[in-house]
Amino acid sequence: MAKPFQAIRGMNDILPGESARWQSLETTVREVLAAYGYHEIRLPILEKTELFARSIGEVTDIVEKEMYTFADRNGDSLTLRPEGTAGCARACLEHGLLHHQTQRLWYAGPMFRYEKPQKGRYRQFHQIGVEAYGMAGPDIDAELICLTARLWRRLGLRDVTLQLNSLGSSAARVAYRERLVAYFAARHAELDEDSQRRLHTNPLRILDTKNPAMRAVVAEAPVLLDELDAESQAHFEELRALLDAAGVAYELNPRLVRGLDYYSKTVFEWVTDTLGAQGTICAGGRYDGLIEQLGGQTVAGVGFAMGLERLVAMLAAVSHPGVDSQPHAYLILVGDAAQRRGLVLAERLREQLPTLRLRMHCGGGGFKAQFRRADHSGARFALILGEDEVKTDAVALKPLRDSQGEQITLAQDQIAAHLRAAALAERP
Ligand code: ATP
Ligand code: MG
Repeated sequence: MAKPFQAIRGMNDILPGESARWQSLETTVREVLAAYGYHEIRLPILEKTELFARSIGEVTDIVEKEMYTFADRNGDSLTLRPEGTAGCARACLEHGLLHHQTQRLWYAGPMFRYEKPQKGRYRQFHQIGVEAYGMAGPDIDAELICLTARLWRRLGLRDVTLQLNSLGSSAARVAYRERLVAYFAARHAELDEDSQRRLHTNPLRILDTKNPAMRAVVAEAPVLLDELDAESQAHFEELRALLDAAGVAYELNPRLVRGLDYYSKTVFEWVTDTLGAQGTICAGGRYDGLIEQLGGQTVAGVGFAMGLERLVAMLAAVSHPGVDSQPHAYLILVGDAAQRRGLVLAERLREQLPTLRLRMHCGGGGFKAQFRRADHSGARFALILGEDEVKTDAVALKPLRDSQGEQITLAQDQIAAHLRAAALAERP
């Protein structure tokens, strides 16, 4: 027998038993974003390769080795999006959304990176990303961080820490970069292979190394935060004052740099130690140079993206139940006449009670077997339509979760009212 097909390595199926938690997470995020006045933007999954090369930067891990790039039938080089900021910026420029106006936007969906798959790190993963354009001050940085803090509270996630840093202006970073290269070059022998490669392409990324053997050499490296330009310094101080006023705690992490090139000033990450090595659940910052880099005017931008696989894993650990998708009622149909009438009855109930979750038994079988299914389904009520009920336009209703509950017989046109009174249809 041929081996059954398997999903591509690093790409996961989200099975029915898990999807409730995903939906619940997505619903909560949507509610919080709406409460802060953010609008959804839906973007293509494919973009021209050049867009990512230009915005993310040629010498980043993503562009150097993580993109799924291919030629389409015309020979154009296309790439499965590795992140959402570039496409969002492209769409805003293309549709003129940045002319003398501010935008508060979010998007959700799959991202693709050719990484080494491991717990919390996949080749297809999902992000919800948030982008705010046209606001240069620290107030919007603070708003975004407050939004994420509120989200964790709403989700019941406690073991999370905010790490904060500033990367300064790009001019200040150029000077710092030179000092950093000089420092690392002097300690070349202590650098691992990755870092030696990065030394002349993307030296800031060395600070972000995950190799424990590099800890000492990184710890003694010069600190960018100590030599911020005056404007970035003022921006950072005001952001910290705003976060203090809002009661959002943070840790300063001068080694925090982002994997992507386009950041300036504020960078932040929410991290947890409950997930093992891949502990960053949300990462973001300011990228005032991005829009210009893509051919637009100078437009301030700040945003973040959160990794949904990691958030779902955290929710599972706090036994967040997810949205309730068990049926309220299970319709048992015994006999040929009942099977025919059952569909009509079920459709009428769904018309009358749009939020009722009714599972109709399909596939025939005797009463006992059907009743077992009803019980296993988690439904609160079994509705039973047998030969006698069909003859008298009745239906029997048996409570399944309440051991005191007696079976009663109702006229078919009374069931909706009865279920409504039992407050079934009001549960989401
Ligand atoms: P790292 O340095 O760990 O590779 P990154 O800088 O590449 O992180 P971002 O591009 O900022 O990560 O992505 C934002 C968030 O998306 C991450 O904090 C994480 O929660 C999630 N994420 C990123 N890559 C993956 C992946 N391969 N699998 C699952 N989640 C991911
Ligand atoms: Mg990465």
